[in-house]
Amino acid sequence: MKFPLNFFVSLSVICLMLLGVVTQAATEKEPWQQAESTEVWEPVPPKVSVNAAGVPSDAIILFDGTSLDAWESVKDNAVAPWKIKGDVLVTNPQSGDIRTKQNFCDIQLHIEWQSPAEEDMEGPEGQGRGNSGVFFQERYEVQVLDSFGGDTYVNGQAGSIYKQHIPLVNATKGLSEWNVYDIVYSAPEFNAAGRLLEPAYITVLHNGILVQNHAEVKGPTAWIGHPPYEAHGCAPLRLQDHGNPAKFRNIWVRTL
Ligand code: MG
Repeated sequence: MKFPLNFFVSLSVICLMLLGVVTQAATEKEPWQQAESTEVWEPVPPKVSVNAAGVPSDAIILFDGTSLDAWESVKDNAVAPWKIKGDVLVTNPQSGDIRTKQNFCDIQLHIEWQSPAEEDMEGPEGQGRGNSGVFFQERYEVQVLDSFGGDTYVNGQAGSIYKQHIPLVNATKGLSEWNVYDIVYSAPEFNAAGRLLEPAYITVLHNGILVQNHAEVKGPTAWIGHPPYEAHGCAPLRLQDHGNPAKFRNIWVRTL
């Protein structure tokens, strides 16, 4: 039997097409296989639990009402001169700031604070109403102040990054109530020559309400002017003695 040439051409084309179909079927992955290619399996996040008091299992306890062992005096590195009353840490006006013995870089901080009674305020308004502050790396302050009552400049009220960022809202509670700060702090980065590579950033939840959203810190906190960054490494967390009574409790950090 004799086949015309075009029969063989057609046969070849059909064979090639069949081969293509078979090859494509062999190489085309099932959807679940395609999805697998974007799955990441490590590093596995460590498990962290929260106890009945709301403290994460990987937290470093800085004050739980029992001792000031984690703290020292800024004036002379001696025993922290503030007082413990009940389970509350109370400022000791004019004794000076206190700071942690441990240095920190990036952290998540939980701290609760309460302003003094009205009769212990310096006045009905201004910066003398239970003024204290949380200084990250001893330099960058999130303000502690009664801002439920007295007026003051808004970049110096509670929840402000002092003289740099106004809080998004005023979430301050009344004088007899406890305020809660949950703060995420990202430390600034410097190169070997001391040049700023990345500024610090601060996110603040005040009583669960966002008041600072990844705010860029412009430099060290100052009462006057805006000084530039100076290179530094990890450093203590510092609480301010502004000469006013103020109370703190339940202080812990998680290093990030
Ligand atoms: Mg202050």
